[in-house]
Amino acid sequence: MKITSVDVYMQDYNLGGFVTIKVNTDEGISGFGEAGLSYGNCSNAAFGQCKDFAKLIIGMDPFNTEEIWNHLHRHTFWGMGGGVVVTSAMAAIDTACWDIKGKKLGVPVYKLLGGKTNKKLRAYASQLQFGWRKIIEEKDALTLLYDPQDYFDAVKDALSEGYTAVKIDPVFAPTDKKEMQEVFSTQGNQIRGCYRNMDLQRSVERIAAAREAGGDDMDIIIEIHSLLDANTASELGKALEPYHIMYYEEPTSPENPDLFKFIQKNCTLPLATGERVYTRWGFRPFFENRSLSVIQPDLCNTGGITETKKICDMAHVYDMGVQIHVCGGPIATAAALQVEAAIPNFVIHEEHNANLLSIFKKFGKYYYAPKNGYYEIPELPGIGQEMSDWAMEHSVHVEVK
Ligand code: MG
Repeated sequence: MKITSVDVYMQDYNLGGFVTIKVNTDEGISGFGEAGLSYGNCSNAAFGQCKDFAKLIIGMDPFNTEEIWNHLHRHTFWGMGGGVVVTSAMAAIDTACWDIKGKKLGVPVYKLLGGKTNKKLRAYASQLQFGWRKIIEEKDALTLLYDPQDYFDAVKDALSEGYTAVKIDPVFAPTDKKEMQEVFSTQGNQIRGCYRNMDLQRSVERIAAAREAGGDDMDIIIEIHSLLDANTASELGKALEPYHIMYYEEPTSPENPDLFKFIQKNCTLPLATGERVYTRWGFRPFFENRSLSVIQPDLCNTGGITETKKICDMAHVYDMGVQIHVCGGPIATAAALQVEAAIPNFVIHEEHNANLLSIFKKFGKYYYAPKNGYYEIPELPGIGQEMSDWAMEHSVHVEVK
């Protein structure tokens, strides 16, 4: 089997945009992959990198995912240590090749990764600081929540669907109310050391409201989006200890792994990070300092199914669990489910509230969502997802051959 061409798609970001590729073969089988940079401000970089790398795989056999990965890693000058733009394009290509393998063999990808160790996947309702279904579907937009009562209501909304775990960023909405656009545009300035006491108290009140809504049996994951410095993250972590937190995600920027060791010494919350860490080499210092309890690799940014499986297996050696970071399009969700089905150190699946937006529902050929807080694993051949006709029609498209 040979790769004959690659279609690269970038959806208009104003529509919510995803960067997706379709790898085509001489046997008429095509596979889909996603470069996970569409949220944030790097979608053009991902689109360009996918085009550049697509040229290099024409004529290669999509079954040789190790060869393709190493070709892009070793023979592209910036493949080694090149960062997330490079590894997101590698991820898109790798995922598409796995999709092709599954389709050709007539099996879901998880069977090629060792089969199911998890029959269904527990999911959590993610990013409740932007609300949950009631408020999101009504406006078809995420809405930033300020008051603790709103956090209470969002948790109740998620629980009503059968979720038993939620994730909340209690610092994203500033204590002083601002328009959401202003919060996003000044997010970099929110990185705060020496929290004002009122900010600390407001963050704790939001989590206290969530705990009250969910009762003792609900699991709460705290998300910080790397917005705090290590001192402040330690202080907040200490203040949240009474609320029995499942894990504490990106309490500070992961660029210096030693800071996670510092936070680990200063509060008892189990720590997690990974969406801003790329490849086995990027995760290595976190394994060696054993500062994390849960790793959160983003399959579509860290190098695809091939690389994510290896990272997860390395984490297993250190008794670290895995929650794949999922914040992209339906292709990203589908690929994550396939890996999560196979790995023995799976913890929980991230169901992002952006998946409730109409753009997400329309973008994939199929719409998957948890039922009663659990995902069934798609059994279609390949990753079990493709772009919809609507998505292709509403994207910038380049064919590389
Ligand atoms: Mg996160």
